[in-house]
Amino acid sequence: MSHARAVPALARVSSRKRTRVTFATKRFRSSGASTRAKEKNEVPAVDPACTLVERRCEVDLISTGSSRAADGAKKVCVDFDNTREAYKSKTTLELLRSLLVFKLCTFDFVVDKNKELMDLSKRLFGQRVFEKLMKMTFYGQFVAGGDQDSIKPLIEKNQAFGVGSVLDYSVEEDLTQEEAEKKEMDSLTVRRVIGCRTGVDHREKKYKAHRQFGDRRGGVISARTYFYADEAKCDQHMETFVKCIKASAGSSVDGFSAIKMTALGRPQFLLQFSEVLVKWRHFFSLLAAQQGKDGMAVLDQKLELEQLQENLASLGVGAKQDIENWFTGEKLGSSGTIDLLDWNSLINDRTRISHLLVVPNVETGHLEPLLSRFTEEEEHQMKRMLQRMDILAKHAVESGVRLMVDAEQTYFQPAISRLTLEMQRIFNTHKPIIFNTYQCYLKEAYDNVMVDMELSQREGWYFGAKLVRGAYMHQERQRAAEIGYDDPINPDYEATNRMYHRCLEYVLEEIDRNRKANVMVASHNENTVTFTLQKMNEIRLSPRENKVYFGQLLGMCDQISFPLGQAGFPVYKYVPYGPVNEVIPYLSRRAQENRGFMKGSQRERSLLWKELKRRLFSGQLLYKPIY
Ligand SMILES: Cc1cc2nc3c(=O)[nH]c(=O)nc-3n(C[C@H](O)[C@H](O)[C@H](O)COP(=O)(O)OP(=O)(O)OC[C@H]3O[C@@H](n4cnc5c(N)ncnc54)[C@H](O)[C@@H]3O)c2cc1C
Repeated sequence: MSHARAVPALARVSSRKRTRVTFATKRFRSSGASTRAKEKNEVPAVDPACTLVERRCEVDLISTGSSRAADGAKKVCVDFDNTREAYKSKTTLELLRSLLVFKLCTFDFVVDKNKELMDLSKRLFGQRVFEKLMKMTFYGQFVAGGDQDSIKPLIEKNQAFGVGSVLDYSVEEDLTQEEAEKKEMDSLTVRRVIGCRTGVDHREKKYKAHRQFGDRRGGVISARTYFYADEAKCDQHMETFVKCIKASAGSSVDGFSAIKMTALGRPQFLLQFSEVLVKWRHFFSLLAAQQGKDGMAVLDQKLELEQLQENLASLGVGAKQDIENWFTGEKLGSSGTIDLLDWNSLINDRTRISHLLVVPNVETGHLEPLLSRFTEEEEHQMKRMLQRMDILAKHAVESGVRLMVDAEQTYFQPAISRLTLEMQRIFNTHKPIIFNTYQCYLKEAYDNVMVDMELSQREGWYFGAKLVRGAYMHQERQRAAEIGYDDPINPDYEATNRMYHRCLEYVLEEIDRNRKANVMVASHNENTVTFTLQKMNEIRLSPRENKVYFGQLLGMCDQISFPLGQAGFPVYKYVPYGPVNEVIPYLSRRAQENRGFMKGSQRERSLLWKELKRRLFSGQLLYKPIY
């Protein structure tokens, strides 16, 4: 059986703003507001590009007319230029606030010195006035409120307009760079770095702590960073995640919650386990090359079992009899060949976690210890991290909430992804509860998606993925260049876009085949959303089937989220919350992400102006959202 898949050439997205999609009758979350507009018979202009549309749909921003596809599904268009619909949930004051905030973000001085400016205004005006100012500007735009109770009205309002919430408690320690570096070095440095016999440190540069990159926040604007303090702090993070899971269950019928693994334990384990996984994979490639199978697609590389056993024995990796035992699993090797998935599964079968620190050296083929064994305390820390993940997954199952595990830096990510996959094996047997995250700025993103998807098919569990472009690009590139290893990031933005669409197409094909996989398109990129709608239309996937979800951050790209929600697509905002003083690092990052030169924020500002003018000229300046 060939595991490779022909992926059709990328269909480039046109710049049209309207996209045909298979229509679903209104989702449970679609707004009453849209119904009212329909009652008023307000019909937006029909784009002639929507040739398949024949009759008016029930969702008013979605235009109109109708045609039925062969299977009877109706076609609709989502119009990302229709500002009346995009900002239907906003008062005029809220629109003015957005404009003010996005305008402020065009001034480099404000963005670069945002923390100093916030400190200064706190000193000048006092805490109360400062809080008021923040609520009128950045905090009001990007943060829902101080605690779970105070954010309820906003969550309910968004829900009424078809947009769900992923709660994100955004309180962050405001560490200085030196403090961050110290914490990182303390948590990642291993005192006993040596191979047992030789005294040689076999670890690769990439998977070692480097003080100049100890502050992992550097160059990262769209993601939060956790630093390890102690086990009690990790328990605290877990409790916070549990609260978010429970609150997510209450805020959307089919809720999502997001977690970061670096919050749940000492990251040293993630670093070491990542190295083991990467080396193990490289060792497979070396063996494939020995059998003349290099250059083939990753899942086409099937190693002949007998030859493999001989190769391993001759490399001195183990006694021939031991190696034979490795391949005696139920299915393993029954075909006479071993592929990467079989190979990866050996890590489970052959090893206990603490023994994983022994890995093959790609050059010599010999097994080498990365480190001496974990101490009892480290072993305990590692187990606690796995237990915390398990507890969160169980809470998610009980609450009927899906759990997305965020992707982080490439020196942690192989372990994060693998541990997430282990949870998927356990918890995704009846539906996709656990979602892994794939960063499409990585050169290896497509291979990662393909390998995990293939495993889900082989083992019969539900694949769940969140696709992102990736938040750590600058840091990753700089670290690779300075420390001296291959840059893991695609050469340019276009390559990342192609990778995103390629991965998305692959998952959509799978959904088309068996309706088992789920994907969240987590992006603010309108072309990517349009591309997704187009593909959904092509495979006649109704939004109501809840296989494809969309995710954006609160306060950003409402012109995408709300039209999607009104049209019945499952769309979610990451909703940060926390007291004003404690979410300042988060606000700082939002300011940077919305810097004036960014295309998305420019477009948002022009749409906000358009809507303000529309309200002014139609006498609707005092418009109040009704829901
Ligand atoms: C709901 C949600 C969840 C998220 N979860 C995660 C997560 O778990 N992990 C994570 O890492 N990020 C996560 N992100 C952040 C995400 O990865 C992006 O940083 C951010 O959303 C910008 O990408 P975009 O697709 O929205 O927009 P765009 O503006 O179209 O893309 C910007 C992105 O393109 C890539 N890029 C830009 N220039 C280049 C270049 N020269 N070469 C190669 N690539 C380039 C970078 O990844 C950059 O962030 C999440 C974002 C959202 C909205």
